[in-house]
Amino acid sequence: MKIPSEERYKGKGKRVCRNCGTARGLIRKYKMYVCRRCFREMAESIGFRKYGW
Ligand SMILES: [Zn+2]
Repeated sequence: MKIPSEERYKGKGKRVCRNCGTARGLIRKYKMYVCRRCFREMAESIGFRKYGW
């Protein structure tokens, strides 16, 4: 997992994906703060596979 150079996601303001830095389709569920694209990749590596986005 690569970390974006900007770590503004942890401050105030808008949150962005902590994996790729985009603010689109962000998922705050599970406190992961990743976009759904990255989430899916993570989910697969974690073990979730039943998300049919
Ligand atoms: Zn992402």
